[in-house]
Amino acid sequence: MKLELSQEQIAMVNAVKEFCQKEFKPELALEMDKKEEFPLDIYKKAAKLGFTSMSFPQEYGGGGCGLLETCLVIEEMCRADSSFGVAVSSGNFGSEFISTLGTKEQKEKYLPPICKGEFLSSAAFTEPNVSGSDITKMETTATKYGNEWWINGTKTFITNATIADFVVALTQTDTKIRPTYRGETLFVVDKGTAGMETSKLHNKMGIRCSITGEVLFNNVKVTDANIVGELNKGFYSSMEFFDKTRVGVAAQAVGMAQGAWEIAFKYAKQREAFGQPLLQHELIGCGLADGMIKIEAARWMTYRAAWLVDAGKMDPMITAMAKAYAARVAMEVTDFAIQTLGGYGYLGEYRVERFHRDAKITEIYEGTSEVQKLTVLKYLLRKF
Ligand SMILES: Cc1cc2nc3c(=O)[nH]c(=O)nc-3n(C[C@H](O)[C@H](O)[C@H](O)COP(=O)(O)OP(=O)(O)OC[C@H]3O[C@@H](n4cnc5c(N)ncnc54)[C@H](O)[C@@H]3O)c2cc1C
Repeated sequence: MKLELSQEQIAMVNAVKEFCQKEFKPELALEMDKKEEFPLDIYKKAAKLGFTSMSFPQEYGGGGCGLLETCLVIEEMCRADSSFGVAVSSGNFGSEFISTLGTKEQKEKYLPPICKGEFLSSAAFTEPNVSGSDITKMETTATKYGNEWWINGTKTFITNATIADFVVALTQTDTKIRPTYRGETLFVVDKGTAGMETSKLHNKMGIRCSITGEVLFNNVKVTDANIVGELNKGFYSSMEFFDKTRVGVAAQAVGMAQGAWEIAFKYAKQREAFGQPLLQHELIGCGLADGMIKIEAARWMTYRAAWLVDAGKMDPMITAMAKAYAARVAMEVTDFAIQTLGGYGYLGEYRVERFHRDAKITEIYEGTSEVQKLTVLKYLLRKF
């Protein structure tokens, strides 16, 4: 593994930085975050520049790069603004299923508009009753009648639920098999399909520009052509999907920590107390140095996890370590950023309180930190 980024990667990061400086206006972000609005125009502009489809195949309009490049974009966007960053970089969440497992027809239908930013997508696993951390059994069922599959059930906490053009949903196709996860299948369902309804969840703690909602399936009729990957292999496909996308969440956390840290560091150099800049007070100065040590460690754990995926050596333990650690660092560093700004840190317009509220989600979605630690433990037991 190379221990520094290539010239191309650095140039790409600079291009994203320039884009964010132009488009991620702090006042606009504050206003849209308050209104819980998705920044559709910015998403489309980012897509046109290729920033939302770095790792999608070139033949369908993607960048043909790896997960590391995707993570670099996510990190930079979340550094610039945690709410816009998450919303824009997650606009096509779930499309990776089509990219890696889809049939030729599915790829031709969904990937070009996804890469151009004309489509948004979502991936639905979580359900109101049991399935959150535990996705080994789905209450949402897909039952075959003749040539049709009828889907019934409710998915909740779904990113992009009300704005997605299609959803990839995990369902139970075999209700008798044990263990139950051997009977789960992924289906892609288009927006507007009869029987599918969506609604928005409001008043989230953070990432309010990212839309979260429910998806209801009431006798939604699809066919074999809607199956993504193999019948009854949806659980395994989902696990592989998370092993990759979790690295992206780690990148979100690194970016958020870095963004809040930079605001705090700049402030601590200028603001004086007891006759000298805050930075000269040991508790603040060393606190900020400590924060950067942790950010740097989290960053390289994240890059390593991404690099392993790109090298075809995906390691679920390394991914889990990176996500759990980066998420904790994001919580600690954004908290210290508020503390550094004192009372001003508590005000919305200084932005660090939002970085902190937004950072919390990285400890929850795509596998909570507890779940990551259980994964780490599982692999440690195999090794030692
Ligand atoms: C903003 C947002 C966006 C989301 N986007 C999506 C999405 O796009 N698609 C989707 O399908 N889902 C999405 N989710 C759902 C998210 O993935 C789940 O909330 C998460 O996986 C946790 O599941 P849960 O909420 O059911 O918590 P639970 O699984 O009920 O867990 C509750 C608590 O118990 C702990 N716990 C659970 N099991 C164990 C165990 N074995 N040992 C120790 N502790 C344990 C958990 O760590 C957690 O602290 C989103 C959630 C949010 C808030």
